[in-house]
Amino acid sequence: MSAPRSHSLVIGAGLAGLAAADVLASELGGGRQVTVIEPSGRVGGVLGTVHGDGWLVERSADCFLAARPEAVTLARRLGLDSELIGVEPRARRALVWHAGRGVPAPAGFRLMAPGRATGILTTSLLSPLGRARLLWERFVPARRPASGDEDESLESFATRRLGREAFDRLVQPLASGIWTADPARLSMAAACGDFLAMERDAGSLWAGERARLRRQAGVSESSGARYGQFVTLASGMETLPRRLADDLRSRGVRFVTGSVSSLERTNDDRWQMAGTGLDAAAATADTVVIAAPAPVASGMLDRLDRLLADDLSAIDYAGSCIVSLGFARDQVSHPLDAAGMVIPRVAGRRILAVSFSSSKFPGRAPPGCVLMRVFVGGALDREVMELDDDALVELALGEVGYLLGARGEPKLASVERWNQAMPQYHVGHLARVARIEAAVSRHPGLAVAGAAYTGVGIPQVIASGQVAARRCLGSV
Ligand SMILES: Cc1cc2nc3c(=O)[nH]c(=O)nc-3n(C[C@H](O)[C@H](O)[C@H](O)COP(=O)(O)OP(=O)(O)OC[C@H]3O[C@@H](n4cnc5c(N)ncnc54)[C@H](O)[C@@H]3O)c2cc1C
Repeated sequence: MSAPRSHSLVIGAGLAGLAAADVLASELGGGRQVTVIEPSGRVGGVLGTVHGDGWLVERSADCFLAARPEAVTLARRLGLDSELIGVEPRARRALVWHAGRGVPAPAGFRLMAPGRATGILTTSLLSPLGRARLLWERFVPARRPASGDEDESLESFATRRLGREAFDRLVQPLASGIWTADPARLSMAAACGDFLAMERDAGSLWAGERARLRRQAGVSESSGARYGQFVTLASGMETLPRRLADDLRSRGVRFVTGSVSSLERTNDDRWQMAGTGLDAAAATADTVVIAAPAPVASGMLDRLDRLLADDLSAIDYAGSCIVSLGFARDQVSHPLDAAGMVIPRVAGRRILAVSFSSSKFPGRAPPGCVLMRVFVGGALDREVMELDDDALVELALGEVGYLLGARGEPKLASVERWNQAMPQYHVGHLARVARIEAAVSRHPGLAVAGAAYTGVGIPQVIASGQVAARRCLGSV
């Protein structure tokens, strides 16, 4: 196949790449072609769903935030409206392991924003002193950072505002269930900008959260994370990228199995790709969206722009493992009446969290059975990734036996390894992303997209693909 006159190439068929191809396909008319190149031969990147014998096991993400529009809007446009299901009402709370049992996060407490005084006054997660310190948050003076020093780690921010005990027993475990990050390095500005803004604009998290609740009067209250605002697809998360890829194919987008190793600018202001599986039509393009992970993007751009490549490779990634375990209901003594349980680091256990998959959503386990997903690893326990699958299953079984009273042989046990799959937004991340965007904008027709930059959640990743496609079109 010969090179088309005008051609857009998307590198990587994860959600970011597919979302970019979606914009490119709808905004480009006659004569232009769009190609998506992906080494794995499948679409969706980290997203995947395994079905079998009445179980539905998500390989990575199991739901997404509906409060941001991008993912829900996309699902609806693809005819998946009837597939969208919310978290079961009885599961809209998080448990935190404390003093030998799972204790609900205080009612109304949102990651680090104290919602209601009664929830804090009555929680057994904190000592009387810890509760008083948390309630004192409203009187803690706002930090007035010097210009250029606005960012701060999550641990520093939460300890400063809420006290060490609230951080150790509440914020750290809730946050690690989301980012699997080191809280002493996780950037507030990049990961929790809204809480930073509350301190800056309202003077405290307490006042900021009150104002937010007044603005959103009527929004149902849940504790820990905002479980009432999360949805999934009844047939599993993989349906979203698959359906989008089918739609793109029907609109003429071409999918090629192969990978890009480098790209360079040609004398006639086009992009020339090197790699495997590239036919003549895929190897040159006038616009390129790189939607592969940042270290891979760095390798592609190394010869073109060294400083840009250095900034991309400096984005750190952490890994995690998910051990999915299925049991007959009567093998587990815990009522599993929550979305899951997070385990504080100070508890000294070896797992980060357990998600109660079959409590959250219907259709995840056969009748009379329960499914749970045990999260292991993250930035603070990279060594655990070295265990083999049998050892990981043993570890997870031991933990759910201790934490949830799960007994006997599981009916299902599977391990998903996510080596270097979670970008880590360290302090200074936003400044790095600004440098990356400035550098990329100096190369007409080039853009980068994906979880590495402006949000790891599914709606943010879709948005990053859409923005990248528009930027790259606007620059040629
Ligand atoms: C274990 C786990 C659980 C998660 N849970 C949730 C959740 O519950 N809710 C939520 O909102 N988010 C969750 N996330 C985050 C979210 O799923 C991801 O941020 C998002 O799916 C990443 O999409 P992406 O397109 O940026 O990257 P990826 O999905 O990583 O896609 C990148 C693609 O680039 C391809 N590629 C690599 N190298 C090359 C090359 N040289 N040439 C061409 N292509 C290449 C890869 O094969 C891959 O297909 C989770 C993530 C993980 C890992």
